[in-house]
Amino acid sequence: MIYEKVALIGLGHIASSMAHGMRRAGCVGTITGFARSAETRQTARDIGLCDRVADSAADAVLDADLVVLCVPVGAMGPVMEQIAGAMKPGATLTDVGSVKRSIIAAVEPHLPDTVDFVPGHPLAGTEHSGPTSGFAELFDNRWCLLTPLPGTEAATEKLTKFWEALGANVGVTDPEHHDLVLAVTSHAPHLIAYTMVGVADDLGRVTESEVINYSATGFRDFTRIAASDPTMWRDVFLTNKDATLEILGRFTEELFALQRAIRTGDGDHLHAYFTRTRAIRRGIIDAGQDTDAPNFGRD
Ligand code: NAP
Repeated sequence: MIYEKVALIGLGHIASSMAHGMRRAGCVGTITGFARSAETRQTARDIGLCDRVADSAADAVLDADLVVLCVPVGAMGPVMEQIAGAMKPGATLTDVGSVKRSIIAAVEPHLPDTVDFVPGHPLAGTEHSGPTSGFAELFDNRWCLLTPLPGTEAATEKLTKFWEALGANVGVTDPEHHDLVLAVTSHAPHLIAYTMVGVADDLGRVTESEVINYSATGFRDFTRIAASDPTMWRDVFLTNKDATLEILGRFTEELFALQRAIRTGDGDHLHAYFTRTRAIRRGIIDAGQDTDAPNFGRD
């Protein structure tokens, strides 16, 4: 048993996957959950997601040894404000948010001295949301990045064991580095997918349903990513602004270079570029981080 009592605040895709993962691993005693809407709380009760579903966030965290914030990035600070006074001294606080710097800035002002905060981010997810969308295998062989605050070594070690029990590989990094890397690997690609689907939608008005009927696999992958939760992704872009804009600037420069190569018929440039990117794809497969297509966009 790694933790006796765990509280999940927010009962969506990631929290429900964690609940199933904890049950599969048998690594915790009891799981208490809380979601802001009565509807989600009722669904969680109906499907038996947790041992207990509380009616307030503060009630859910009472006695918890581990509290996991599983709400959209922009809601982390306000939720922390609600639970701060109810948390047990000696408890560990973590989160699963896709951005780290802004969450630390929002949570830290409310953090009790007696609580260890170890921010986290499982690089796993699908385009689905809500308490019925989770599954225990979501974190298997995926990375979970932790960005611990100073003085939380023992809590970090325990949380590492917890994520490993859920099937994940655990990495430790600093919040700035996390946000830059994720801007490259996740945030900018999502924005590009949203844009491409938006462009096709505009075109679709001209060509009627051709865009849908003749969707090739590349476009279908984009539509799946672009179906991701609007609230979650709005918050990601608003809170990882600098890193995302930096990567989009570089992306635009590369796009112009490819545009010029196409216009001038520079096949050597295009071939060399695509050869380089193909090698990156092979590296990802060799690292076991994409066994099949549906993994793309899972973070
Ligand atoms: P989700 O399925 O949409 O669930 C979100 C949960 O947060 C719901 O229980 C929702 O409550 C609650 N919530 C929403 N807005 C809130 C607010 N303003 N105040 C309090 N609670 C609120 O989301 P998710 O995919 O699990 O994402 C949760 C976190 O995980 C996010 O921070 C996201 O960045 C991160 N993450 C997501 C993925 C992914 O691919 N999905 C991957 C890695 C990390 P109601 O149901 O009652 O509305």
